[in-house]
Amino acid sequence: MASLAALGGACLAGIGCGAGVVKLKATAVASTATTQASGASPAPVASEAGDKKRIAQCNCGQLRVTVTGPDPERISLCHCNLCQKQSGNIFAVQARFPKEQVAIEGKSTSWKLPKDEADQIAYRNCVSLGGGAVFHFCPECGSTVWYTADADAARIGIKVGCFTDPSFPPPKLSGFESYMHPWALNTPALQVQHIP
Ligand SMILES: [Zn+2]
Ligand SMILES: [Zn+2]
Repeated sequence: MASLAALGGACLAGIGCGAGVVKLKATAVASTATTQASGASPAPVASEAGDKKRIAQCNCGQLRVTVTGPDPERISLCHCNLCQKQSGNIFAVQARFPKEQVAIEGKSTSWKLPKDEADQIAYRNCVSLGGGAVFHFCPECGSTVWYTADADAARIGIKVGCFTDPSFPPPKLSGFESYMHPWALNTPALQVQHIP
């Protein structure tokens, strides 16, 4: 993991903070979400200064995160077992945004890993390397939208898929590649029937 550490921290998914978690969680629970119809998030909107307003939301739309600012500096792709299980997919992509750029609306249920100091996680994962993380998912539809982690107190992690934005910048980091499904990053080479 030395190379990952050199790139700015061993915890790929790790974002977040301790005190900030409470504050942000309270905000999320107290606010009334502007529920949007299920489906894709709105397209990003660029300001005159070049900043973009992006919205990430769960499948049902009640949990949404609005981010305003420049493109994130850190976007990572992770193949670890945690990211696979959590996403229900074979890898996960997440981006870190400074907390002051993030506004959270809607209810979320949180899940902490590890749950306490005695919690022995049986598989390698990107979170425990950084001390732990708290993930927030929609209690209605189950989408994990945002999270915080002990490794980075200044930023909030957002699952890139929740932006449903193909123009979102690509990852700059890739970790836990020993867990990678061999075809995962070479889908154009697959012999498949293409469904429009
Ligand atoms: Zn939902
Ligand atoms: Zn991971």
